[in-house]
Amino acid sequence: MKLIYCPQCGHKLVTKTIGGQPRRACPACDYVHWSNESLGAGGIVVKNGQVLLVQRGQAPNKGGWTIPGGFVEQHETIRQAVVREVAEETGIQTKPVGIVGMGETSYLEEHNLYLGCKLRYLGGTLKPQLSEVQQVRFVSLKELDELPVADLSRRLIKLALQTDGLAHFENFTNWHHHHFYY
Ligand SMILES: [Zn+2]
Repeated sequence: MKLIYCPQCGHKLVTKTIGGQPRRACPACDYVHWSNESLGAGGIVVKNGQVLLVQRGQAPNKGGWTIPGGFVEQHETIRQAVVREVAEETGIQTKPVGIVGMGETSYLEEHNLYLGCKLRYLGGTLKPQLSEVQQVRFVSLKELDELPVADLSRRLIKLALQTDGLAHFENFTNWHHHHFYY
């Protein structure tokens, strides 16, 4: 994605070197396009030794299987987003437990972060959100090995099944209210 017009004043943007990097900037006002990020989250739900998966109904990877999930809305926390996405896509109600791992892609034009979250199964009836998902199922670990499951989903499921090292949400409570601490 290349920004053409200033989102602040509508003037045509130019490319300038700022802080040692080429960036889109506005010659008419102070706007600088610093970054373009996306934040997504997926949920790992285990019930009686089986993992909740969805079969994608849309490109990319249409027909492939993944853990349920989607993009985090601006006003939401990660844990709200992942519980909402799992409920919307599968009909299953859950409670967030913690973060098990992440997927990340970073390019000059964009940086994408996807957090895999462990969720506790609460209840509900399997019901696929047919606009996005072809099927929803709890699958055994044997089936997991046989189905065309996306590599990141597979890795996050394996991590979620090893509870050691799980980063509990309690440790991240204020991240969305305060500055980032390392
Ligand atoms: Zn401007």
